[in-house]
Amino acid sequence: MPKLQVELVPSSQWGSNMRDILTRSQWDKVRKHFYELNNNECQVCDQTGFDQNRSHAVEAHEQWEYDDEKLIQKLVGIEVLCPECHRCKHLGRALKTGAGRKALSHLISVNGFSEAEAQAYVQSTFAIHALRSMFAWEMDLDWMLTEDFPLDKTLMEGRIEAHRKKRAAKIIRGGGVG
Ligand SMILES: [Zn+2]
Repeated sequence: MPKLQVELVPSSQWGSNMRDILTRSQWDKVRKHFYELNNNECQVCDQTGFDQNRSHAVEAHEQWEYDDEKLIQKLVGIEVLCPECHRCKHLGRALKTGAGRKALSHLISVNGFSEAEAQAYVQSTFAIHALRSMFAWEMDLDWMLTEDFPLDKTLMEGRIEAHRKKRAAKIIRGGGVG
């Protein structure tokens, strides 16, 4: 597995993320907690946004695991990343906004890829993404109820339940889950 991996979220799951589940201040508390745990440095390449001429050091990336048989998208943690590594995680967005070449260069430099290796790797991640985007995934957010998560468990149970209901209502209305 390459050090820096592209992690494309299935398009059927877009809009269902922690920022959608938490209030703004709760999300700020969560991300700052993890920034401090990791000394405001990127967990992948050790750089910060300041090394990259940005005005902020790091960003929070939601890590998901996919059970492709049971169709469960499971939240497994928060990764602290520099802006360049974070851009690579969401390479589809970078390509759409004209930052694809920059992202690819960072991916090549962090992973020690050749240009051909990078192209092959990116193609494989997009193929998986296309398949996963054909399905609606059940979300497992139980990580937000563990001791690793810096907010009150009871409070989080309420937020997760509200999110589940909102998603269910969306599906019933026939609007998909995106
Ligand atoms: Zn980085």
